Amino acid sequence: MRNYFVLFSLLITFPTLGNATVSIAEVNQATRHLDLTPHIQVFIDNEHAYSIEDIINNEKLEFIDLTESGNSFGFSKSVYWIKFSIIVAEPLQKALLLEYKYPLLDKLTFFFPDSSGNLKKTTTGDSLPFIKRELDYRSYLFHLYPVTGQQQTYYMRLETEGSMQIPVSLWVASDFIEHVDFVNISIGIYYGIMMLLIFVAFVAFLFLRNVLYLYYSLYLLSFLMFQFSVDGFSYQYLWPDLPQWTSRATVFFIGTSVFFAMLFTGSFLRIWNYHQYIKWLFFLTMGLAIVSMFLSVFGNYAFAVKLAAFTGVLIPPVILLGSFSSIKKGYKPALILLSGWSIYLIGVYISGLVYLGLIESYFFTRNSVQLASVVEVLLLGYALIEQVRVLNRDKESATVSANKYLRQLNEGLESQVAERTRELKEKNDLLSDLALHDSMTGLLNHNASIKQLKIMTSTALRYERDLAVVMIDIDHFKQINDQYGHPAGDTVIVAIANILKNSLRESDGCGRYGGEEFILLLPETQGEYALELAESIRLKIMEIKIDEVDEKQLSASFGIAAFDRENSTADIICDADKALYKAKENGRNQVVLL
Ligand code: GH3
Ligand code: MG
Ligand code: MG
Repeated sequence: MRNYFVLFSLLITFPTLGNATVSIAEVNQATRHLDLTPHIQVFIDNEHAYSIEDIINNEKLEFIDLTESGNSFGFSKSVYWIKFSIIVAEPLQKALLLEYKYPLLDKLTFFFPDSSGNLKKTTTGDSLPFIKRELDYRSYLFHLYPVTGQQQTYYMRLETEGSMQIPVSLWVASDFIEHVDFVNISIGIYYGIMMLLIFVAFVAFLFLRNVLYLYYSLYLLSFLMFQFSVDGFSYQYLWPDLPQWTSRATVFFIGTSVFFAMLFTGSFLRIWNYHQYIKWLFFLTMGLAIVSMFLSVFGNYAFAVKLAAFTGVLIPPVILLGSFSSIKKGYKPALILLSGWSIYLIGVYISGLVYLGLIESYFFTRNSVQLASVVEVLLLGYALIEQVRVLNRDKESATVSANKYLRQLNEGLESQVAERTRELKEKNDLLSDLALHDSMTGLLNHNASIKQLKIMTSTALRYERDLAVVMIDIDHFKQINDQYGHPAGDTVIVAIANILKNSLRESDGCGRYGGEEFILLLPETQGEYALELAESIRLKIMEIKIDEVDEKQLSASFGIAAFDRENSTADIICDADKALYKAKENGRNQVVLL
């Protein structure tokens, strides 16, 4: 689409060539659509010095062939005169139309012979109200009144402040209608897709409150308005009474497109926060775009056009730089964004190649910019979705690791609690052990002995079982203490305690009743058996060998009481005590059963 070269025609220059001759365009029954470029000659009137009479009559004027110069002339204040000749070789029953397919042209005067051969003129252009057009169409259309077999020459005087383009072709009216039908459907689909995207993006902004969607929709809207103006629709439908505004609108929307494209891309790539130097390139482009917008409305239009074109040229390198820098920093969605923009640029270059005649012009190549821009905006939208997805994923993984951390913390706490509980239990056990046992000998202490005896007594009472109690007292222990010292006495106590422990059954009880007194609690045991047991212990005690103590001195006395079911706990101890007393009285180192 040559119209897109409004943006880039600044960069294109053309050589001026000498006089040449072109062929006459021939129309016959088979003609449907005829590109007149090969038949057109152009004369550039830099000083605006010539009238139509001069153009027709002055043979010295240097007309050049449009095929040689190309039909795009960039920005120029000159007046362009073109002429071409047409001959209708055989009688036609069809109307002929001439199309000048460049809606942005400011002023066009068409000089044509009417059916009687008189030269007529009609003036149009987007500097005139839309209503003045001969045919109500977005580009410029003229009726032709050919006379069969007669060569007729046509002239046009062209003037524009924007880029000068000269695309002229001839149509058979019926074919033109068919062509317009097809074009309108394609264009309708294109604008439909774009408008839908704008709507979806804007609704997404309202719901998600993500300002990127707003920038994206504003970019799409600007771009759509730019297209609409370039195609001539906005003048036809939006502001047909504002010729002053319509040329400026195109430039204005180039400015807004550039501005929002950069705002969206920069925000998307997080250029403002993370890319110190590239940020200023974005700001520069956006700043120039704003200036061009301002100038397009209030200032020097010709300068605004050039500035807008320059910002358009700035976009690709700046966006490429930003994307690469972002990708380098590992920001994945930038890749999708970059491919979107790249496809758009490829579209622009394909249309450039078509424009330069380097590749074939057919539907896909001719409309490559529109097609590419659809793919581009879809990819930009996808990039946007992807970006939100990445953000969510980051959030999710943060939640996951937070949960993992909490779980680990919990597990840690649990194991710590378990550890502490175990320690507490150990301490508790130790404490209860201390509460029940005598620390020196490990035997039950006084209180625990009495408690256990109570339990055993009640069991024996209830089940009518036997129970025997043995009280043991070390003989002349005071003397041992006095003679060998207290520690030696302790050793003796421990040694006797060990003998007691080792002589008993699991179910028996054994306690340190007092200083050097012990008690044996023997359930299921009759007096006689207790007597035997005590006797064997008495012998073992006599055999204790302790280094510093004279072994002959070591003996103990035993008093035994067997359980009488009629008697209480206190009584059985009392009885054992009595027996012990008897043993002492009888000369010690003996067992007495009460
Ligand atoms: P007997 O019983 O044969 O009549 O004479 P004894 O000397 O053993 O009698 P007594 O009850 O008067 O003496 C007990 C002594 O035991 C008094 C006390 O100093 C000593 N004794 C009590 N408990 C301990 C102890 O834990 N360690 C040591 N080394 N001596 C203790
Ligand atoms: Mg004693
Ligand atoms: Mg004693």
